Amino acid sequence: MGKVLIIGAGGVGAVVTHKCAQASDVFTDIMLASRTKSKCDKIAAEVGGNRIKTAQVDADNVDELVTLIESFGPDMLINVALPYQDLTIMEACLRTKVHYLDTANYEPKDVAKFEYHWQWAYHDRFKEAGLMALLGCGFDPGVSGVFTAHALKHHFDEIHYLDIVDCNAGDHGKAFATNFNPEINIREITQRGKYWQRGEWIEIDPLSVHMPISYPEIGNKESYLLYHEELESLVKNIPTIKRARFWMTFSQNYINHLQVLENIGMTSIKPVKFQGMDIVPLEFLKAVLPEPSSLGEGYSGQTSIGCQIKGIKDGQEKTYYVWNNCDHGVVYKEIKAQAVSYTTGVPAMIGAMMMLTGKWTGRGVFNVEEFNPDPFMEMLPKYGLPWHEAVNQPLAFNDYNL
Ligand code: NDP
Repeated sequence: MGKVLIIGAGGVGAVVTHKCAQASDVFTDIMLASRTKSKCDKIAAEVGGNRIKTAQVDADNVDELVTLIESFGPDMLINVALPYQDLTIMEACLRTKVHYLDTANYEPKDVAKFEYHWQWAYHDRFKEAGLMALLGCGFDPGVSGVFTAHALKHHFDEIHYLDIVDCNAGDHGKAFATNFNPEINIREITQRGKYWQRGEWIEIDPLSVHMPISYPEIGNKESYLLYHEELESLVKNIPTIKRARFWMTFSQNYINHLQVLENIGMTSIKPVKFQGMDIVPLEFLKAVLPEPSSLGEGYSGQTSIGCQIKGIKDGQEKTYYVWNNCDHGVVYKEIKAQAVSYTTGVPAMIGAMMMLTGKWTGRGVFNVEEFNPDPFMEMLPKYGLPWHEAVNQPLAFNDYNL
């Protein structure tokens, strides 16, 4: 049915490639390209059967991307490289008339800012070209938006309060490692926190608001209020939302390591002189930390990510919780992945499937909550991410009186 080009052969890229190969009726031709071709070849060999073509590409370079896209001729491109490459890849898609999907919003290298405006600004150009770009189609952002759209379609007339709760209760046995790209992960966590309340953004010091939240099959875990990019699109697309927050768990060990690294300047993105060269401390730190794709072996425990929602249905107050739990060990057995890469890669493949099968169509730049959630929700359990829901059960929060 469609030819797909996947860019980025990291933890997430490996999952997307395996999952596209599993859906061979939709993805008839698959190419995986990345900065380091040997990583693509390794993933292609794991998938086997000569299903996956591979190539080397520097995705910061639009001309190189255009040459690669023209040589393969895909119908769509899945970008699971880094957020820094979003705009160059979108430019290349416009030049070659190829649909686009990613899992993380564009960030300039020299400022850690998580905002959609750079990519939303492409809307008219994608529209005029008759192309679709789907932004943020991993788990969060991604399934978090689909879960919210599902809640609005099937459970509420109006959503008023949204708390996205993200727990990783896994143990990878390393002293310190990040579950997705270390540079992007640390930039996200060390920035100031932010949430939406009564029509404005409220800022807080990094990791300064936290509380224990109980997660299904896991129990209580200390959860920290962070800014996360889907909050921006969700409060724009669902304007009845009075408050939207995002919570993520971190172990005390993780926080301690992060604090030491911050205190000694290792998380800085400002270049420093070292032996006559400019080096960015965070980029150097990334080079010495384990790669996310290497964490799977021996990783035990589960992730649990969901949306806790309060709103109105038929004039009555209603609460709703929808979530997925994913087991690191189970997904390692399936495709040698860890659960954070898996929960990102599966939705990226499903988003691409929605586009190639015409279930989600549009001309321009979109976020996932703008589409019918039903066919996407139907595919989640089929490709390894079962979801569960609880209606009118007590939620983790009791501060709903805005
Ligand atoms: P990794 O660091 O494991 O992989 C990134 C890959 O991109 C690497 O293979 C890297 O190549 C490649 N790459 C980097 N720069 C370039 C370039 N200029 N040209 C070509 N390839 C390049 O990260 P993850 O797989 O963990 O994360 C991938 C993406 O997924 C990130 O954008 C991350 O933010 C996003 N993500 C989204 C989530 C969600 O739920 N929405 C959750 C987790 C991650 P090399 O191997 O040579 O370094």
